[in-house]
Amino acid sequence: MSNLRYSRQIAFFGVGVDGQDKLLASTVAIIGVGAIGSALANILCRAGIGRLRLVDRDYVELTNLQRQILFTEADVTNQQPKSIAACEYLKKVNSEIILEPVVAELNSGNIAQILDGVDLILDAVDNWETRFLINEWSVKNKITWIYAAALGSQCVTMNFRYNNTCNNTGNNTGGDSNNSCDSNSPCLRCLIPAEHPQTQQQTCATAGILAMTPGTIASIQAAEAVKIILNSNAIREGLLTIDLWNNRFKNIKIKRNPDCPVCSHKIYDYLSRNANAKIQKICGRNAIQISPESQTNINLIEYAKKLEKIGNVKTNQYILNFTNDNLQFTLFQDGRAIIENPKNEIHAKNIYNEFIGLR
Ligand SMILES: [Zn+2]
Repeated sequence: MSNLRYSRQIAFFGVGVDGQDKLLASTVAIIGVGAIGSALANILCRAGIGRLRLVDRDYVELTNLQRQILFTEADVTNQQPKSIAACEYLKKVNSEIILEPVVAELNSGNIAQILDGVDLILDAVDNWETRFLINEWSVKNKITWIYAAALGSQCVTMNFRYNNTCNNTGNNTGGDSNNSCDSNSPCLRCLIPAEHPQTQQQTCATAGILAMTPGTIASIQAAEAVKIILNSNAIREGLLTIDLWNNRFKNIKIKRNPDCPVCSHKIYDYLSRNANAKIQKICGRNAIQISPESQTNINLIEYAKKLEKIGNVKTNQYILNFTNDNLQFTLFQDGRAIIENPKNEIHAKNIYNEFIGLR
């Protein structure tokens, strides 16, 4: 059955039967299942990546449907976590691959477990902190990752292949060997030296976004992913920037920084940070996420019973949504909560302590 399913892809000169087998034998993690992540998952599930791990911290909202192609109105009504909703949809498309939803925020405490056994990491997140974390993990463990981001009509992507798989001496069935991936390949910190480029960051909510923008960059990222798995000699180098509205397409060569803290000096700030007890603004809306001090797994049904006395509670297997006249928050099984419209961080923290109390 597999060969018939993938026959059009196998017929393509760059893939073939051996290439398809390699795709089916590979494990790819997609971090963030928003607009870019759902487009990536859609393409790579159909292409027959054997094991796809979809990692996302959030649930589906109405504003997502304009561009996040795996979700439906029912997912909005049911407040399905994005990784669960995406896997439920994709299971109906390809039941022959393994789909692994992970409802969590990738952090220094769980990255080893979440990325265990992964051959390639695809970035589809909305914040620099997670990207820097992925970058450090990738350099430290010599795992290739592909950066991508989209906003308005502009999008960017770059392959980061620091000391990657082509250093292996094993025979690669993809055929064409690649010489470019040596220790001169830059990492993300070579490209973006500042630690907090988000200070003037615009978001999808403020700058808007065309649905075609993430779709375009995800297609390019997915093509590079397939080439990288097949060890093709056509793997793109450099930073690709596209502006769909103004018809600009540019590829810029990026040099490795010999004084880079991450790939030269092996200083892994983000990997060594305390993952827990974190307070974070959610990109694109007035909401603050609070994580508990220690890793936990809470019983949402018990919380629902308690909270029903003071407001409206909606739960599914993965999340609990609470609303009353004054506040609204969503509680996840891992003890994280997203507080909507808090006055400030202290207010959000107080709400967490008062209503969830896991700190
Ligand atoms: Zn570097």
